[in-house]
Amino acid sequence: MAQPSLKIDRARFVLTVDQQRRIIRDGSIVIEGGKIVRVGRGDELADTRADRVIDAREFVVTPGFVNGHMHISYAHPVRGIFPDDVGSPLKHVFALQLAMTEEEEYHTSLLAMLELVRNGTVCLLDPGSTKFPDACLQAYADAGVRVILGEAVTDREAPFPQPRYAMAEAAARTAAFIDKWNGRLDGRVRAWAMPFSPETCSAELLQALKRVVEERGTGLTLHHGSGAQARKEYQARGAKSPTEYLEALGVLGPNVLLAHALGIDDGEIDCIARTGAAVTMCPVTAAKGGRGVGAQGRMPELLARGVRVALGCDSPNNSNHLDLVRAMNMAAIQYKDARQDTTQIPAETALEMGTRLGAAAVGLGDEIGAIEPGKRADLVLFDTRRPEWQALWNPVNNLIYNTDGRSVHTVVIDGRIVVDNYRQTFVDEARLFSTVQEIGERLQARTGITFPRSRWPVL
Ligand SMILES: [Zn+2]
Repeated sequence: MAQPSLKIDRARFVLTVDQQRRIIRDGSIVIEGGKIVRVGRGDELADTRADRVIDAREFVVTPGFVNGHMHISYAHPVRGIFPDDVGSPLKHVFALQLAMTEEEEYHTSLLAMLELVRNGTVCLLDPGSTKFPDACLQAYADAGVRVILGEAVTDREAPFPQPRYAMAEAAARTAAFIDKWNGRLDGRVRAWAMPFSPETCSAELLQALKRVVEERGTGLTLHHGSGAQARKEYQARGAKSPTEYLEALGVLGPNVLLAHALGIDDGEIDCIARTGAAVTMCPVTAAKGGRGVGAQGRMPELLARGVRVALGCDSPNNSNHLDLVRAMNMAAIQYKDARQDTTQIPAETALEMGTRLGAAAVGLGDEIGAIEPGKRADLVLFDTRRPEWQALWNPVNNLIYNTDGRSVHTVVIDGRIVVDNYRQTFVDEARLFSTVQEIGERLQARTGITFPRSRWPVL
C-alpha cells in the first residue's frame, strides 16, 4: 500500500535550512512517498491536496534533528546515580554496560528512542554501545527513527572494561556486522565501523577497519581527543599528534567522524580539514565534565575551515538529557562565554549543526537535514502556544535561546508521524518507566555499583 501523503499547512514559520537558508512565513510542505515534494508559501500551495493535512498555523517547523554521538544501552536505568564528586564515572559506565541483558537493553533502548523522538531527534549515531542489536531492532522499528549502528571494538588494553578481540577477529566482526545491518528498516539503519579510540586499537586494526568501510561505502567513527599531554605521548612514538597519527595511517577521510575532538591544535584542525573528516562535538558533556571548552574547544575554528560539525548528547550519564535543542543552546552559549565574545557560534550556526551539517557529518547530507524538495520528510513542529515562544520575532533565536524539546508537538520521520500532539503511540510510557526503574535496581545489585542516593538526607 502506498504511504499516505501529508501536508503541513501554513506554518507560522518554516526554517528550511536549505541552501539559501530560507525562512518561510506562512509556509507549507507537501510530502509524498515519504519525501518532500514541494515547499513554499501557503497561498502558492493552496491547491495541493493530501491524505492528511496538519494545520500548522501555530507551529514553527524545522528539519528533524541529527544526534551525532548518542550512546544507547546501559545508562537510562541508572541515570543520575553518579554524584558530582565521583570524578570520571567511566570505569563504572563500562562495567554497567557489560552487565546488561538482552531484555534489559531492549527496554532501555526503547526508553532512549522515546526520549529522543519526543525531543525532535530523527537520526542518531550510537557509537557502538548496543550489545544486542537484534533485540533493539524492534525498538528502532517501533520508534521509526534512523539509526547508525556499529559494534565498538578494541584490540589493546584499555583503562576500562571494553570488548577486546584479536585484530583479525575485530575486523571480521565489524565486516559481518555491517553486512548484516546496513540498509535494514527500509534504509533507516546504517552500519559503520566503530573502533573505540586510537589508543585502544592498534594501527593495523584501524587500517583494516578503514578498508572494511571503504569496500562497503559506509563510515567509521571513533572517540578522539588531543591536548598537550596526548601530543607529548604521540611524539614519543614518532607522530606529531593523535590526529596526524590517524592521517599518517590513512584512516582519516570524508567517511570518518571524530567524536568530541577536544584539545586539538591548529595543525590537527588543518589535518581534519585537509582530509575532509567530520567531527561530532558534545557541548553539554564537555561543560558538565569540566572539560574546559575555553582551552580545549575549537568548534569555531573547525566550522571556519568548512568541517562538517555535528552535535551529540553523548550519554544519559554525561549530558544527561537526550534533547538536541539543549545541546544547540549550549553550543551557542558556551563559546560566547569561553571567548568573551558574543559573535561566537550564532544561533543560526547552532541550528545548522543540529540539522544540515549534522546530517552531512553522518553521511546523510543528501537525504535529510533540510526542508527542500527531494529530501526525505523528517520534520519537527514546535508549538508556539507556550510561554517560552513569546514574543515571536526571530524564530531561530527563540528556538536556540528560549526553548527546549518540551515544545516539540509533532515529529515526522520519512513522512510518517511518530509524535502527534506530544504523544507517541509505540509504547505505554508509564509501564516502560517502571520497568526501567526496576532494571536500574537489578543492575546496581548485580554489579555492586551503587552510590549514596543523595548528598542530602533522604527521609
Ligand atoms: Zn562516546
